[in-house]
Amino acid sequence: MGVFVRNCRLCHEPMSSSPFTMCPTCLDVSAKVRQFVGKNPQVSIEEISQATKVPLDKIKRLIHLGLNKKSNEETKI
Ligand SMILES: [Zn+2]
Repeated sequence: MGVFVRNCRLCHEPMSSSPFTMCPTCLDVSAKVRQFVGKNPQVSIEEISQATKVPLDKIKRLIHLGLNKKSNEETKI
């Protein structure tokens, strides 16, 4: 039955139709990481992982997917 299912772009789990490209779990993770990085821009991935309880792998993928958009502005050394 034409139910539109796509895969979460972060964990690649199938998810039901939603206006988001990530499943609710990953949206939550993404929001947490984004908020933490927003407050602590110089923090390392390891520290993000410890503070947010998100596995390193997931954070790396998350950063690859989008968080680095922001850091472009910070590359003025
Ligand atoms: Zn997901």
